[in-house]
Amino acid sequence: MTYSLQSFLTFIETYAARLQELKDTLNTLDNRIGDGDHGTNMERGFTFAHQQLQVKPPSDLAMASNSVAMALLGHVGGASGPLYGTVFMKLGGVFGQHTEVDEAVLIEGLQAAKKGIMDRGKAEFGDKTMLDVWEPSVSFLLENTGEDRFRYVIPVVRDAVLATKDRVAKKGRAAYLGQRSQGTCDPGSVSSGLFFDELVKSYQQEVGIISWETLVL
Ligand code: ADP
Ligand code: MG
Repeated sequence: MTYSLQSFLTFIETYAARLQELKDTLNTLDNRIGDGDHGTNMERGFTFAHQQLQVKPPSDLAMASNSVAMALLGHVGGASGPLYGTVFMKLGGVFGQHTEVDEAVLIEGLQAAKKGIMDRGKAEFGDKTMLDVWEPSVSFLLENTGEDRFRYVIPVVRDAVLATKDRVAKKGRAAYLGQRSQGTCDPGSVSSGLFFDELVKSYQQEVGIISWETLVL
C-alpha cells in the first residue's frame, strides 16, 4: 500500500478532533505529574495546524508536513511544541514533494521523527517520555515486514503507553517529582499513542477503536 496526501490530511483532521475529545484526560494526567497543560497545548496546536491546511491547501506531502510543523512550533508552548514540531519537520524531509509514497518511506519518516525527538529532547527509552512509545512502535514497524504490520503495531503502541505508568520520570517536568511520578501514565506518551492510533486509522481503516480515556485514567 502507498501513503497518500489525502491520508495525511485525514490523519491531521481526525487527530485534531480526538485531541479535542481527550483534552481533559491529557490535562488531568499532566496535572498529576506536570503543570496540567498538555491537553490544552496539543489541542490548540493541532486545531491550528488543521486550519492552516485548509486555508492553504498543500500540494504535496512535504508541504503538508512542513505546514503542520510550523503551526506547532509557532502555537504550542512547552516541551511538546518543539518535539511534535520536529516530528513533522522530519516526516516532511523524508516524504519529499510527492503526493504518494511507499509504505517503506512512511516507516523511514517515522524512524527519522523518532531520532528527531531523541536529538531534541535527549531522552532515552525508559525515561517516561513520549519516546517510550515511539521507540518500540517504530522498532516494531521496522522489524516486521508483513502486510498487516500497521494493524499489529496498535497493541504494541497501547502496551507502550501503559508501561509508562509505573516508570519514574527522568526527563521533563515529571522528573522533578522523582519516585512520586510513578502511578500516572506519561501524558506525552498518551498523545503519541493517539498519534499512532489515528495515523493507522487514516491509512488502514479497519482498525478498532481504543478508549484511551478509560485506559489511561
Ligand atoms: P510542558 O512539560 O513544558 O508543560 P507539555 O505538558 O505539553 O509540556 O508536554 C509534556 C510531555 O512532553 C511529557 O509528558 C513528555 O512525554 C514530553 N517530554 C518532556 N520532556 C521531554 C524530553 N526531554 N524528551 C522527550 N519528550 C519529552
Ligand atoms: Mg505540561
